[in-house]
Amino acid sequence: MEFVTLNTGAKMPLEGFGVFQVPDPQVCEDSVYNAIKVGYPLIDTAQAYMNEAAVGKAVSRAIADGLAGRDELFITTKVWVSNMKTEETAYESVKKSLEKLGLDYVDLVLLHQPMGDYFAAYRGILKAYKEGIVKAVGVSNFYPAILANLCENVEVIPAVNQVELHPFFAQTNALETMKAYGVAPQAWGPLAEGKHGIFTHPVLTEIGEKYGKTAAQVALKWNIQRGVSILPKSVHIERMQQNIDIWDFTLTDDDMAKIAQLDLGHSEIVDHGSVDFVKMLHTLKVD
Ligand code: NAP
Repeated sequence: MEFVTLNTGAKMPLEGFGVFQVPDPQVCEDSVYNAIKVGYPLIDTAQAYMNEAAVGKAVSRAIADGLAGRDELFITTKVWVSNMKTEETAYESVKKSLEKLGLDYVDLVLLHQPMGDYFAAYRGILKAYKEGIVKAVGVSNFYPAILANLCENVEVIPAVNQVELHPFFAQTNALETMKAYGVAPQAWGPLAEGKHGIFTHPVLTEIGEKYGKTAAQVALKWNIQRGVSILPKSVHIERMQQNIDIWDFTLTDDDMAKIAQLDLGHSEIVDHGSVDFVKMLHTLKVD
């Protein structure tokens, strides 16, 4: 496992475990527990995933069982749009997240979407950061121009921007903007949520055969080697193990170039430019 140093000076693991679309509390708790057991030091949840309590139970069980110390774990959550109305609603929602997680602090809080009053919400998470109950603040789905506008107008530059990044949506321009502002990129959907035949893709499979690795492992390592941290999700322990077994091989420049050619230049998962998508996100209310 390798780490990236955030603009706060803290070290964030380059690989973590995501729990989007794991609504069943027991499945979520068992998955997070198993993920920590097989070596994932970072857990990525969100208010909108409705599973912060299950994540918290798994974390405290893992700590009690001696699998990891709290200081060896990096826990991220995200403020949902319905809590991004004022500084106070965002701040209070962070405190509620901590309660659900059963933690005194989280390592990172992100604004989940560039929606609602995100400047006010950013001030809300900054308040929590200044109080020390949040160790770093960041954003998610802030596309380049929106990220630049935020960075030009805030007191503390976000530590992380979590966006969709995988071989079929490489977003090199977004990475350049993040680099220019000192924001660490983090990939959601690093396995493209299984789209575009990623697990059997001929280019990824052929590259993997040289190293005894799967197409999934090649896709994950490609992001790591271009400086992007990753959050693969799986509820299956053997896939969790496979997805973290990527630290013993290195892709060549030629491999990296071949993978870069798979970029479609657009997402096949979400359309942040769609009015209907924005409206849909506003229908989800999170306490
Ligand atoms: P993902 O990690 O790209 O893909 C997950 C899918 O791939 C699941 O269907 C999983 O199935 C399957 N899978 C995982 N490893 C596999 C393997 N080795 N072989 C075959 N299938 C495999 O998608 P994601 O969950 O959307 O993204 C990862 C994390 O990023 C999320 O969990 C969440 O924490 C975060 N995220 C954030 C945002 C945001 O807006 N900030 C949006 C989406 C996701 P099984 O579980 O059945 O194994």
